Amino acid sequence: MNIGRRRSARRFIFFQRCNKAQPMLNAIKKCWSPGVTGSMPGQRRQVELGNQLGLFGALATFPYQLFYFFYDFDFYRAVFIANLVFVGAYLSVLLLNYLSRYSTAKKLLLVNACIQIFVITWFLSAGAGVHLFYFCLASVLVFLFNNLRLRTYISLMALFCALYVTAHFLFSPALAITPVPLPWVNVMYAVSVICVLSLLGGLLYLLRQQIDAAEDELTLNKHYFEALSNTDALTGLPNRRMLDEAFEREWERLTRQPGTLSVIMCDVDYFKKVNDHYGHDGGDRCLQRIATALESLASRTSDLVARYGGEEFAFVLPSTGEKGARYLGEQVCEAVRALAIPNPGASSGFITISIGIASIDVPDGGDIDAKGSARLLKRADEALYQAKTNGRNQVVFLPYLHSYTSTEQ
Ligand code: GH3
Ligand code: MG
Ligand code: MG
Repeated sequence: MNIGRRRSARRFIFFQRCNKAQPMLNAIKKCWSPGVTGSMPGQRRQVELGNQLGLFGALATFPYQLFYFFYDFDFYRAVFIANLVFVGAYLSVLLLNYLSRYSTAKKLLLVNACIQIFVITWFLSAGAGVHLFYFCLASVLVFLFNNLRLRTYISLMALFCALYVTAHFLFSPALAITPVPLPWVNVMYAVSVICVLSLLGGLLYLLRQQIDAAEDELTLNKHYFEALSNTDALTGLPNRRMLDEAFEREWERLTRQPGTLSVIMCDVDYFKKVNDHYGHDGGDRCLQRIATALESLASRTSDLVARYGGEEFAFVLPSTGEKGARYLGEQVCEAVRALAIPNPGASSGFITISIGIASIDVPDGGDIDAKGSARLLKRADEALYQAKTNGRNQVVFLPYLHSYTSTEQ
């Protein structure tokens, strides 16, 4: 118990620290922002990576420069000046990205890093571990260029291998132009290893963050488009697609367990006249008001009301039998009448709605046809037709025809 509590307390403190570190992280991220804004996400990632590598190249050179400067500047003058040129080139990568010269920036970064690693190893010998940075280049290459052809990729990898092996075996301490004495050469090797690992770790961490952000965005977009494809644009109600899916799901449930299921089909009476009189826009507004009224009547979470077609709406009511469905049907009729929307085409002078209901009751041990769902809809449609022919503005109920059930077929 205690250990668990202590752990969660520690986790809490860790997350608190992370939250405090966020502004600092944001400030650091600004450093590699040149040229990033407004670009496409893929290109933005590459520009960011180019800037990050440019900054890292310049920063990683800094401790070496300090050593040359304070240890023996006269002896290391040549390597110091060479490094200044390389650092200038790294910083130019950020400038080129800022000027939207993305391709040049990436190429400059790659060439500069390749040459710098080789030249500095030549000056100091392989003992300083500078040639380990070829591993970094090899690891990030594929992220730096988005449309790198396989042949170019393999060639560059072969080049890195060749440069690493050459530097490792050719530049022994005995042949170094400006060798670093012991124990400093070992310190340099350790610094190189630390820099290589921190660069790889840092970049992989940032890439992971970008992948997470991209995944979150994709999930959000997926939910958004799913909602869009299931919603009717005019009324905001679920559309027929969603109704069909829900209906099939409920029917499938009935094939496995006993229960009841009802469908209500609604069709606005003399709606053509509404359009004729108030125009299509007036008709649309009227449909929106009816939709809102119907939506408020589908009170159970399992109930679904959808726009079935033009001025037709439908309810799918799981676990609802004849009585409940009839009651809701009457409520729908009443709610539409209560809107009191004028319709010069109707005898009452107001908009009314006709309702057809069909229900199926599957008792314990009952068996229904897995493909019989369409028949229930057809029954509701038949009921609606009767409501229309009986004079509209009314509810007609028809039961599911039991002769259709597979047990009795
Ligand atoms: P009934 O009582 O027999 O149902 O008569 P009705 O005039 O409603 O006839 P019907 O159902 O055949 O006509 C439906 C009309 O609904 C035809 C079409 O112009 C109109 N309609 C369909 N969709 C829309 C829509 O999205 N907006 C508007 N404004 N009108 C629509
Ligand atoms: Mg109709
Ligand atoms: Mg109609």
